[in-house]
Amino acid sequence: MTARIIDGNALSAKLRGELAAKAAELTAQGTQPCLAVILVGGDPASAVYVRNKVAGCEKAGIKSLKFEYPQDAAPADVLGKIAELNADPSVHGILVQLPLPKHFDEKAVLEAISVEKDVDGFHAENVGRLSQGQEAFVPCTPNGVMEMLKSIDMPLRGAEAVVIGRSNIVGKPMAMLLTAAGATVTVCHSGTRDLNFHTRRADILVAAIGKPKFVTGDMVKPGAVVIDVGINRLPDGKLCGDVDFESAKDVAGAITPVPGGVGPMTITMLLANTVESATRAARKA
Ligand code: NDP
Repeated sequence: MTARIIDGNALSAKLRGELAAKAAELTAQGTQPCLAVILVGGDPASAVYVRNKVAGCEKAGIKSLKFEYPQDAAPADVLGKIAELNADPSVHGILVQLPLPKHFDEKAVLEAISVEKDVDGFHAENVGRLSQGQEAFVPCTPNGVMEMLKSIDMPLRGAEAVVIGRSNIVGKPMAMLLTAAGATVTVCHSGTRDLNFHTRRADILVAAIGKPKFVTGDMVKPGAVVIDVGINRLPDGKLCGDVDFESAKDVAGAITPVPGGVGPMTITMLLANTVESATRAARKA
């Protein structure tokens, strides 16, 4: 069997078209959605992510503001900019690109962003709201995964879902969303005994580990949906995921590629959260 490929580029293009239409409608009514992006330091990967986010905004008719700070920036300067953006009614989303330099208190920076403008969904209040099933900004990567599952009509209620990884930005919110959708969720991590036992039971297997080609075909249940969140750069410069695509695609029922899978969906969901925030602001105005 060769798995169905879940094409994140195609799904993104469709969703971004719908978002562009919504953004145009809001703009015509006097509220152009606007995302402010803060980049601290010269990490090349972060610079690429920020460039892609800004380009995604432009294509969808969302205004973007970019603020760049050097590696040795004073945290107070960045916090001052966040306070300014929080108070600016024309800004609907604020994103601080992670990771921050070591002398920053990352948690304090994320908590400084207004909950209403936290389009990354990393603020503790949004995380708490999500865990309680209240309206919240959902972190973009796991939200993108949910859209991908929806796009293939994957039944989630009662499905066995296994998430490898328990980070705040991917693994934990992924598990919360799958749980809320009715799946039976197992979260695996570096301390998990007999990882293969868990992965081989999974109807939905999400890999968010940060280790190239870690999940091999023999770890996959025949017919399972395999979602590869990983983005790893190989020594030859090529990108690969946390799943060994070649062996997994022969066992899985559906699989996401890297690149062209979850990556573009993450930016799409950021645009969606920004448009949602602008919609809420327009409603209040
Ligand atoms: P983290 O490093 O924060 O978390 C990795 C997780 O994997 C940890 O929970 C860790 O366990 C677990 N892990 C590590 N080794 C093993 C192992 N041998 N067996 C089982 N679990 C293990 O990474 P992120 O969640 O931030 O990112 C994961 C991947 O997703 C990365 O490749 C990253 O680049 C990518 N990513 C992609 C995005 C996209 O848009 N597609 C967005 C964000 C991330 P423990 O907690 O015990 O240490």
